[in-house]
Amino acid sequence: MKKFAMIHDENLCIGCQACSVACRNEHGVADDRYRLQVRADLKGKFPKLKLNYERHSCVMCDDAPCVEVCPTHASFKTAEGITLVDPTTCVGCKYCILACPYDARFVDPKSGNIEKCTFCFETRGGEIPACVSVCPTDALIFGDLNDPNSDVVKYASTHSLELPKEHLKTKPNLGFVRNYKGGNHE
Ligand code: SF4
Ligand code: SF4
Ligand code: SF4
Repeated sequence: MKKFAMIHDENLCIGCQACSVACRNEHGVADDRYRLQVRADLKGKFPKLKLNYERHSCVMCDDAPCVEVCPTHASFKTAEGITLVDPTTCVGCKYCILACPYDARFVDPKSGNIEKCTFCFETRGGEIPACVSVCPTDALIFGDLNDPNSDVVKYASTHSLELPKEHLKTKPNLGFVRNYKGGNHE
């Protein structure tokens, strides 16, 4: 069985937003919502400034608070580790939105469905997600954690990864190589 994961290497990210645009096209995301954002975070004091580009999206927790609180099991994990929502059993209580520590979920204003990043599982079925496919600098790495020859396993073995809010023990499957180059922090 495959187990999908992604890495965002902030050292390679140039903040171009191509990933975000590709995501919007793939899933018809409403203008004022997002499944994926790359936010610019300016650190330090002039002239020693440093710009970090940080990805914000669902991090595919293995122990997902959104799944735990869902009263109808509409939020669920697939065998491949993808967190999905079944709109036919969702009752719109929004518990999952409140429970997500990564602020990854929203209500689609057109359909009323709960939406978030799915690694494009519903449109691509485990193939390379839209965001990864368009990244001009290969800052996004995706693959099967159970395949030792996958890009994501090879990258993880040669880079130091940080998991978002690791102290919450949600066991994310989106990891980050934090920005260690350029400028200086305070
Ligand atoms: S990041 Fe939020 S929406 Fe995604 S699996 Fe974790 S708790 Fe659920
Ligand atoms: S809004 Fe839907 S998916 Fe979210 S907790 Fe309620 S029933 Fe589950
Ligand atoms: S497409 Fe790649 S380089 Fe551009 S913002 Fe997204 S992750 Fe960064």
